[in-house]
Order: sequence, then C-alpha cells, then structure tokens
Amino acid sequence: MTHPPAQTFRSDCLILGGGVAGLWLRWRLRREGLSVTLLDLGTHDNARQSVASQGILHRGVKYALSPGAAGTQRVLAEAMDDWTRALECADSVSAPALAGVRIYTRTMHMWAPGGMLAGVTGAAASLSLVSGVRKLDPKAAPRVLASAGFSVWETDETCIDAASLLSSLRRAADGPLLSIDAVESIDATEGIVRAVCGGQSVTFSTGAVYGCAGLGNEHLMAAAGIDASSVCQRRPLHMVMLTPAPSPLYAHCIRPLSDKPRLTITTAYNNSEPIWYIGGDLAETGVARDSQAQVRAAREELARCLPAADLSAAHIAPWRIDRAEGRTQDGARPDGPVARSFGRLTFIWPTKLALAPIAARRAVAALFGGEHAPATRQPGESAETVAPPFPLPPEHLPPWQHNNVTWRNQ
Ligand SMILES: Cc1cc2nc3c(=O)[nH]c(=O)nc-3n(C[C@H](O)[C@H](O)[C@H](O)COP(=O)(O)OP(=O)(O)OC[C@H]3O[C@@H](n4cnc5c(N)ncnc54)[C@H](O)[C@@H]3O)c2cc1C
Repeated sequence: MTHPPAQTFRSDCLILGGGVAGLWLRWRLRREGLSVTLLDLGTHDNARQSVASQGILHRGVKYALSPGAAGTQRVLAEAMDDWTRALECADSVSAPALAGVRIYTRTMHMWAPGGMLAGVTGAAASLSLVSGVRKLDPKAAPRVLASAGFSVWETDETCIDAASLLSSLRRAADGPLLSIDAVESIDATEGIVRAVCGGQSVTFSTGAVYGCAGLGNEHLMAAAGIDASSVCQRRPLHMVMLTPAPSPLYAHCIRPLSDKPRLTITTAYNNSEPIWYIGGDLAETGVARDSQAQVRAAREELARCLPAADLSAAHIAPWRIDRAEGRTQDGARPDGPVARSFGRLTFIWPTKLALAPIAARRAVAALFGGEHAPATRQPGESAETVAPPFPLPPEHLPPWQHNNVTWRNQ
C-alpha cells in the first residue's frame, strides 16, 4: 500500500499506547515540562487490559498470604501514596488530579468457604498474621457471605471503575492525544516513528519513544526489528461476567497460604445493571476450557463458594484476555513494573494497574539519568507541539459493553 509523502512532527517524547501506563506516564512527563504526543489505536479491540481489569488498587494484602510475594507487596505499598494523592486530588504536582474516578469501594472482603475445617482454620491463621486485615462481625459482613455462615475479613483496599480512571487520566494532562490505525516503523536509534491514520502517513521525530501498548508492544517490537520472544510474555485469563448480580460484592475467596484466590469478585455496572466480574483461579485454570465449559465451571464454583446466592436467573458470559508483561525466567508474574530500553525506545509493562505510578516514576528517572537527552528542540523552539489533524482515540469499552459477548443462562 502506498501513502502520500510523510510529514514530520516533533515532540520531546512520544508515547505509543493510551492505557493506564501510557496515560500516567504522559502526565508525569508533562509535569517535567516536556512536550508529549500520545498515539493510541483507533479500533475497538478485546485486548486492552486496563479497561478490562478489575480495578483493584491492591495494597498487597493478597500477596501477604504468599511467602514468595514480598517484593510485589513492597512495591504495591509504595504505589498507594500516589493513588491516595491522585484520588483525593491533594495537589496536581505530585500526582494527577483524578476527580472523575468512580470509587466502588474502599474495603475489600475475604472469605473462606466452610465445610473444610482445616481450610478455614488455615486461612484464618494466615490472615491473622497480616496487618491491616480485620475479622468482621457477621452482622457487618455482606449478607451473601454471612448468611452462609462463613468467616469474613475486611481490608482497606480500594476498587475503582477502570473506564472512569482512563477518562480522568486523559483530562489530567494536556498535549496531543491522537488516534492512529497502525505504527508502520520505529527507528529506535534516531527516535523516528512512522504511523498511519486514515491513509495519511506521518513521521514523528522525538528524543524518547515509549512503548506502552500492552499486548501491542509485541507489534511495536516487530516494527522496530526487535525479537519480542526474549523480552515479554503473555499470561492468559478466561474471566467470567454475571448479570444481574444479586448484590454488590468486592471480595476474594481465599485459599490458605496462597496469593491465588479461588475467586476474586468485583461489581461493575452496565448502565445501572450490576455485573459481577470474576477472576482468580477460575480465570487462570479456565484458560484450558472452552466457553461453554467455563460457564459451567463458573456456576459450579459459585455454588460451592457462595451457596447462599440465588443465581438461577443470572446470565453468564466468559471473556478471554491476556496479561502482557515483561519476561521472567520462569514465566511467573514479575515482582513490579518492567522497562526495557533499546536506544531511544523504552518498553514499559506496569504488571498491575495499581503499579502505573511507579512505572511512570521509574521511566522518568531513567530518562533524566540516561544517555539520551529527552529534548529534540532547537534553542528557542517552543515546548508546545504541533500535531497532525488526527482524531481523539475513542474511549475504551469494558468487556460487558462489547458486541461480541455471548450471555448464557445455562
Ligand atoms: C482481566 C484482568 C484483570 C486485572 N485486574 C487488575 C486489578 O484488579 N488490579 C491491578 O492492579 N491490575 C489488574 N490487572 C493488570 C492491569 O490491567 C495491567 O497491568 C495494566 O492495565 C496494563 O496497562 P497498560 O497501559 O500497559 O496496557 P493496556 O491497558 O492494555 O493499554 C495498551 C494500550 O496500547 C494501545 N495499543 C495497542 N497497540 C498499539 C499500537 N500498535 N500503537 C499504539 N497504541 C497501541 C491500546 O489501544 C491500549 O490503549 C488486570 C489485568 C487483566 C487482564
């Protein structure tokens, strides 16, 4: 395919990808006085993690249940300061002011299904060792848990609506935010990126390029001639959605001494209809199951873990999505955000939505400490960017708003 001759646009930094990693980094770079252009894909696709996440701003309690997850716990605790300042709009210098974020809850619950006395005792024993976890009086626990006679704990962990987070982050910083059809090529040494929108090919020249494209980083690596296989990994999930949810629930069904809950249930809303969005072990082991088998497995596991919930009228839909991460030797989840640089091109995987502030802080520290100066500006040239006339990228859709979701009653 041939395109008209390319025009060149300059900015100090160019970010590819408008999920939580790219948008938080954009705010951070703007705060440093740098001009930033962000390019996001204009298509609706199923592969966007931030909007498909459960929106839990983990404090690390879940990870405290697993002896091997101390690193993750530390870095999550560090990120919480940024989230607190951002959500309280404490000041727009140390964190983006995220006034528009819908906060679903500030406390997550944990429960261990009864029946197996050993399991309950083990879970209680491990939870009692974790600071910030309180055992709840049954009267204060969600009815669907208390009426089944389960022990319930709570912890100060926030769950937010991820779509409203992305909208707020977009507004938190200025500078061009542009929709593209594709990135054609990246010259990592020179900081030159060619992108296409509506048949128009445009060249961006910049001091630093950031690949914040999640699963799309694999494509960006191909465009830069980098072998992705040794740099990043995917960890697939087969999530489950259930509507109408019998009551709002934000909770982990825990296993003793494991950071992998059997179920993690959060509640979102499609217009005003409540939806349970369900991850945890069900979603991890469900990768091997087809859609029908996953819906069946979900009904069976919900009946075991939430016997007091009447789900007979509920419709269930499965949703496949991969987590994109920096590569680890054994394929396990990295402890924290991962960044890999190739000349002027740096790829970033926050690993968790909750870790986006840390990923952005580290990326900016590396930029100023690194060998590549961020600015491509000539002396006297303005920090403001002239951008091509590309449209704003569309807002990202959560899984339950996609047309290709199949809801099943059986
Ligand atoms: C089901 C699920 C539940 C999760 N729940 C939680 C949770 O509760 N708490 C938590 O902390 N973490 C959670 N995570 C992890 C978290 O969602 C991710 O770590 C985080 O959202 C990754 O953000 P990102 O910006 O790197 O990627 P994404 O959100 O995937 O964004 C990538 C962006 O890049 C764009 N893009 C793709 N290709 C290109 C290209 N070629 N050019 C330009 N742009 C491109 C996309 O359009 C998109 O805007 C969850 C993940 C999943 C999958």
